[in-house]
Parts: sequence; C-alpha cells; structure tokens
Amino acid sequence: MNNTASIGHDVEQAISANIQILVTNAHSAFEEYKKTSPAKKALFLQTIAAEIISAAPILIPVTQQETALPVARLEGELQRTVKQLNLFADLLLEGFWVRAVIDVKENPAMDIRQVQVPLGVVAVFGASNFPFAFSVAGGDTVSALAAGCPVVYKAHPGHPETSNIVAGCIAEAAAKAGINPSVFSMVTSTGVEAGQALVKHPQISAVAFTGSFKGGKALYDTAAKRPQPIPVYAEMGSVNPVFILPRMLHESGNDIAAKIIGSNHQGVGQFCTNPGIVVMPPLHGVQNFVDKSAELVSIAKSGVMLTAGIQAAYQHGVLKFTQKTQVKLVAAGQPGGEGNTGTPHLFVTDADNFLNDQELHEELFGPSSLFVETSHKADLYNIARQLQGQLTATVWGTDDDLREFADLIPILEEKAGRLLINGVPTGVEVTAAMVHGGPYPATTDAKTTSVGTDAIYRFTRPVCYQNFPQFLLPDALKDENPLNITRIKNGKLA
Ligand code: NAP
Repeated sequence: MNNTASIGHDVEQAISANIQILVTNAHSAFEEYKKTSPAKKALFLQTIAAEIISAAPILIPVTQQETALPVARLEGELQRTVKQLNLFADLLLEGFWVRAVIDVKENPAMDIRQVQVPLGVVAVFGASNFPFAFSVAGGDTVSALAAGCPVVYKAHPGHPETSNIVAGCIAEAAAKAGINPSVFSMVTSTGVEAGQALVKHPQISAVAFTGSFKGGKALYDTAAKRPQPIPVYAEMGSVNPVFILPRMLHESGNDIAAKIIGSNHQGVGQFCTNPGIVVMPPLHGVQNFVDKSAELVSIAKSGVMLTAGIQAAYQHGVLKFTQKTQVKLVAAGQPGGEGNTGTPHLFVTDADNFLNDQELHEELFGPSSLFVETSHKADLYNIARQLQGQLTATVWGTDDDLREFADLIPILEEKAGRLLINGVPTGVEVTAAMVHGGPYPATTDAKTTSVGTDAIYRFTRPVCYQNFPQFLLPDALKDENPLNITRIKNGKLA
C-alpha cells in the first residue's frame, strides 16, 4: 500500500468507526423511543420547529451564503419545514395514522388486531437543493421520527454550516422534550464512502434519499446486496412533462408560456418538479407560443447554481443537447458572470426525434426546457406512453380539450405520482393528500411519497396480534382505547 492509499484507508476506517458509534447509539435508543408516547414525540417535533424559528435570524444568512438561494425563497422554505414538523405533530396527536384495526368475534372466538410499528434506525440523505425542507429537519427526518424511528442523517456537503445549526436545533429540542439525544445524529463526512458505510450498517433498517439518479441507484443497489436487504426510498427527480392541448394553447398561449418558463427558471431550475419537457399540440399557433417562450428565455438572467458539480453537470447536459442535429436551440438567457452560474436555455425538437432519442427523456437539472412539436393527435399519446416514471405530469386544456383528450389521463396515471391540470408542478404543498413520488426512475418505490403525512408509512410496517391478553397489547389496540383514537373495528370506524 502506498502512502496515499494508506491515508485513504485510515480516513475510511475513521469514517466507519464514527458511523459505527452513531448507528449503535441510535439503535440502543430505538427500544425506548418506539415506546415513547405520541404526545411526547409530538412535543419533540413541535420543539424542533420552535428551535428552528428561533435560529432563523442566524440560519438564513448562513444558508444564503452556502447555497446562493435568494432570502425570500429560504424564508419560505424554512416556514414550510416548520409547518411540516407541526403537521406531523398533529398527526401523532390525532392518532388515526397508526391504522389500528380490530377484528373480534365471540362465536367461534376470534381476536385479531393490527397496527403499524416503526422499522428501526433510518439513514437519511439530505438534498442539496432544499437546505431546510429536504435536509436535516426535512420531510424524511420528520416522517421517520414521527414513525418512532431514530435517524442517522448524512449531511449534504453543499450546506455544512446550515446542517450544523439545524442539527443543533434538534439536539436542543431533544433535551427540552426529554428525548434521548441519540435519536438523532449527523454524519458530516463527505464522499461516497460515508454514505455506503451507513447503508451497509446492519443496524440500519431503511434509507431515505433525495438527489441524483446515480447516487440513489447506487444506494439502492448497496441496500439490496446486504445480507439483510432493506428498503431504500430514493427520490431521484424527473422531467415532469407538460402537455398543452390545442384550444387552450390557442386561447392562452402567452399566459401559459409565462407560467411554464417562470416555473422552469425558479430556483435556477434546481427543482425535482421542474417542467423540463413541454409537448405541444398539432396546431399552427404553436410557433407564436414558441416565439413568446423564446422571448422570455432570452431576457431571463443566469443564476448561481447550488454547487460547482451541479453547474458542471448542467453545462455538460446543455452542450449535449446543443450538439444534437435534431434538436434546435431557440433561445438562451443572459450570460452569467464568474462562478457557478446556470444560463436558461430553450430547445425544440419534433415528436419523431423525441421518441427515438432516449437521452432527450432524461432530466437536465437546471433552467432548461425542451419543447416537442407534434404533427398528429396520436403523437401526444405516443409520447405519453413512452415516458419514463415521473414525479408529476401536467395537462393544460379547456374543458372541451380535456374531454377530447381524456384518454391521456389513464396513460399519465401509469407514469406519474401527481397529475395536474392547468398548473405548474413546482411548489409541492405539504398536505395529507400530497404524493411526491412516482414510478422508477423518478423514485425507487412508486408506492410511497416523500412529502405529506403518508410519508410516515415508509418507516413502519404492519404487525398483527392474535389472541393477545389486553395487558400485552399496544395501547392503540386495547379495548379501552387509552389513546382515544379512531380505529376500524369489525369493518367499521369506531
Ligand atoms: P448526489 O450527487 O446524488 O448526492 C446526494 C447525497 O448522496 C450526498 O450526500 C452524496 O454524498 C451522497 N451520495 C451520492 N452518491 C453516492 C454513492 N454512490 N454512495 C453513497 N453516497 C452517495 O446529489 P447532488 O450533490 O445534490 O447533485 C448532483 C446531481 O443530482 C444534480 O446535478 C442533479 O442532477 C441531481 N439532483 C436531483 C435532485 C432531485 O430533486 N431529485 C436534487 C438535487 C440534485 P457526497 O456528496 O458526500 O459524496
């Protein structure tokens, strides 16, 4: 082994040793944390929210410096993160989420009861593009903690100080709420070794990830190869196709152009719900729509991207599109200065070319749009059928359009986790009905969501208790219903 290799080996060993300590401690805390009352867990989450609000005056400038995201965006994201914590606290207090089901009969005697139980220690990988809402105290962490699972969090190297401050808020909240501090811990080492060691650790029971397809798939493969495979909930982004129908384009083309281009450029295009592909109807008027969009793109400013790596990947993708003979660059935004700037781009291609070039179906993370021209109504259906799994799919249409193209909806249902009519996919509301997920490769598990209260079920599993004496049953299943929650008894809400 040469010197460099030996140093590398030492670093790897130090990372592994640190992860070993964090995961073992988290695992030891699990026994107690899973038995912690819903009220105490809710207090923990509410206290994290309060600590983050108190830290905001220090936090926002630090995060602004680390991510180059505008202050208004960060303030909004922080509020969203706080709302998310409180929403999960409310979920715990209300209690129905545990899905307590009781099937009892006297003759012949039957006593079968089911409830959700937490999986164990969860490894959470924070995202670069949401330093609050998908990071330290973001949706993955809060849904795991609400489920009763300790979290070992792998910080994203794009915002280290932000991560430290928010981790401090969680530690403070744990102390105030009387929660074992090992219930949340953070791995600050960077590089794939840290993440790999975490996912391989035998006491990790599930993984949540938001980031690149490459990273998510690598972690998924690692988890699948473990002696005891574990679930990986990786959200890896998508192109979020938008279909514009003829009457709507004719009536409101300029307005739609402004909305779609605005959504595409939001946050320098660094949203997993960024509408990257726009499928236009077979109509003469589409040229006006393209011209209006091109005008908007050409006056759009470049913006600073989150990291040098993300900017380099964007540049590379833009160059690849520009070199394709069947893809036309119709507009580019105002060039940026030095640094990690990303310049908006608008490309156009036709349906045949799109259908034959799989690279055009892949996400180009940044402020770039690909408009697809169609010649026949059938092109819209063919494109919809060939799409990969998506987080969202949007249709713009008048009522008459939507009736005429109603068959698009069942096709898109097969492709995406969230369908929108006449809207933009950026801006994911945190509600009980939200689905932020979708078929592979948008995510590694189409049956789940990483936003909204249903995100909790990624970290629980059902357990059935048959013929148990009352004193041994979990509180949620006892006849006296000490938690006072709504349950399903013999098929009826009770
Ligand atoms: P990333 O490269 O996927 O990294 C995300 C996290 O996963 C980091 O903590 C990283 O650790 C870790 N990681 C990555 N590959 C790994 C592997 N093979 N084994 C173990 N851990 C691994 O994402 P990013 O840095 O945020 O951005 C890179 C690209 O991801 C972007 O250009 C964009 O295409 C895409 N992206 C997508 C979304 C989305 O919403 N889906 C969000 C952000 C970015 P280290 O960095 O410490 O090595």
